Amino acid sequence: MGAVLGFCRAACHRWVAQEKDQVVTRAEKSGHRGRKVKILATVGPASRSPEMVERLLRAGVDAFRVNMSHGDHATHAETIATIRAAERDMGRPVAILCDLQGPKLRVGTFAEGKVLIRHGAHFTLDRDPAPGTAERVCLPHPELFEVLRKGQRLLIDDGKLKLRVIKAEADTILCTAEVGGFISDRKGVNVPDAVIPVPAMTEKDRRDLAFAVEQGADWIALSFVQRPEDVAEARRLMGGHGALCAKIEKPAAVDRLDEIIELSDAIMVARGDLGVELNPEEVPPLQKMIVEATRRSGKPVIVATQMLESMIESPAPTRAEVSDVANAVYDGADAVMLSAETASGAWPVEAVTIMDRIGKQVENSPGYSARIHFTDVQPDATTADALARASAEIARTVTLAGIIVFTGSGSTARRVARERPGVPMLVLTPSQKVARKVALLWGAYAVHTKDIGSFEEMIAKGKRMALRHGFGSAGSKLIALAGVPFGTPGATNLLHIVTLSGEELKGQGGA
Ligand code: PGA
Ligand code: MN
Repeated sequence: MGAVLGFCRAACHRWVAQEKDQVVTRAEKSGHRGRKVKILATVGPASRSPEMVERLLRAGVDAFRVNMSHGDHATHAETIATIRAAERDMGRPVAILCDLQGPKLRVGTFAEGKVLIRHGAHFTLDRDPAPGTAERVCLPHPELFEVLRKGQRLLIDDGKLKLRVIKAEADTILCTAEVGGFISDRKGVNVPDAVIPVPAMTEKDRRDLAFAVEQGADWIALSFVQRPEDVAEARRLMGGHGALCAKIEKPAAVDRLDEIIELSDAIMVARGDLGVELNPEEVPPLQKMIVEATRRSGKPVIVATQMLESMIESPAPTRAEVSDVANAVYDGADAVMLSAETASGAWPVEAVTIMDRIGKQVENSPGYSARIHFTDVQPDATTADALARASAEIARTVTLAGIIVFTGSGSTARRVARERPGVPMLVLTPSQKVARKVALLWGAYAVHTKDIGSFEEMIAKGKRMALRHGFGSAGSKLIALAGVPFGTPGATNLLHIVTLSGEELKGQGGA
C-alpha cells in the first residue's frame, strides 16, 4: 500500500504537463489529486481537440465550461462528445458547464468600422439602424430607451469608454464622453445604474439552453442575472435537467444575493463584467462577501475571470495573478476558473498546471485551515447536517485518510463540503449525474458505482473504493457516512469509522 501513497506524492509534486503516453496514476484516475479546490476551464479553439482535452484533464481540470457566447451548436456538440470520451478514458467523472450568453447589450455598426470619440465630446445613441459616425450610433435595444435617465452611465467595450447621459428621450439618448476612445462595431454596453426590463434570457439563450439540456450538460450558467425571478424562469425552462449556476455580474444581483443563492445550485463571482458595472476596487470586497454567503448556504461558489490573464500570451503568470488565485483558495472558494487562458490562449496546459500547483501549495501551507474557517457555517437542524459537522470534527481529532459519503442526490456531499473538513471526500453514488455534478464541489471526488443493499456491503465497498482510489493504505481510518435504509433519499443517519486492512483488494485483480 506504500505504493499508493507513493503515487499520491508523485501526483502532488507533478508539475510539468503530462505526456500522453505517461502512466495514469491511481490518484489522477479517481480525481483525488491532493487538491480540494476545483479547476473549471473554458474549452475553446485552443483546447477542444481530443489531445488537448486529455492533457488538460491530466494537468488538473475537474470541469469544463462551454461558452455559448461563441461558436455554433455543431461545434459545441463535438466538443462535448470529446470531453465525454476523455472522461471514459480517464475513468473519472467530469462536469460540463454550459454558460449562456445572457442579455448582453451591444451597439450597432459603424460606416467606417470604428470611430474615435474624443474626451468630453457629445455622442448620441439612437434607434436608427443606419451605420454609425463619430456623432452617433444605433443602440438596438428598445428597452434601454425606456429606462435610461439623465446622469446614468453607459460603459462601452468592457468599460474602456464611459458615456454619461445628459438628455434621454424616447428615441435618442444624448451623452457626453467622460472617457473617450475608439468604439467599433457591436461593442458591448454595460448599464450599471439601471435595472433593465429585459428577460433574463434572449431567444438565443432559450435555444442554447434547450441545446445544453439535450446534450446532458451537468451545469447551466446564467449570465447577467438581475432578479431572483430570472433564476426561477431559467429553472422552469430547465425542466429538472442539470443544475443551475447564477453568475453574479450585475450590481442588481448583488443587492438581492441571498434570494438568488436560495434559488440557485451554485454561484459564480463573474468578476469580468462585475468590474465593469462597478468600480474594479469594489470587486475584491464583493468577492469575499459572495464567497462567504454562498459557502454558508452549502452550495458551490466559483471565482472567475482574469485569474491568469497574462498566460493568454505568456507561459508564466504574473506574481499578482498567482496571489489572486491563492487568495481565492484562501477564501475557501469551491472552484477557480480559467477563461481565455484555456479557451483561446497560447498556454492552456501551463495555465491549468499553475493553477493546480497554487491550489496544492496554499492548501498545504500553515494557516490555510484557520483561514478557510473564517466563516462559521451553522448546520441546519437535520441529522444529515449534524453528522456532516461531526465528520469534520472527528477529522480534526483523529488522523483520517478521508470521508466516504454514500449519496444518491449529492446533498450529503454538499453538507460535508460546507464544513471544509481537513481530509478529502470520496463520494460514492449510483447516479452518474451526481458524480459529475460534484466535480465542482470543494474536496469532493466521486466514483459512479452500483447501489448498495446492506450495511456489510457498504463497509466492504467503502474500503475497497478507498484503497482503489488512493484514499489511504493498510491501517488508515476513514469515516463512512450513509443513510439507512439504503436508497432512501435525504436519510443520512449513519456515521461509521472504518479501518483499512489492505485485504480489501484481494481478488480484485490488484486494482
Ligand atoms: P463571461 O462571464 O466570461 O461570460 O463574460 C464571466 C465574467 O463576466 O466575469
Ligand atoms: Mn460576464
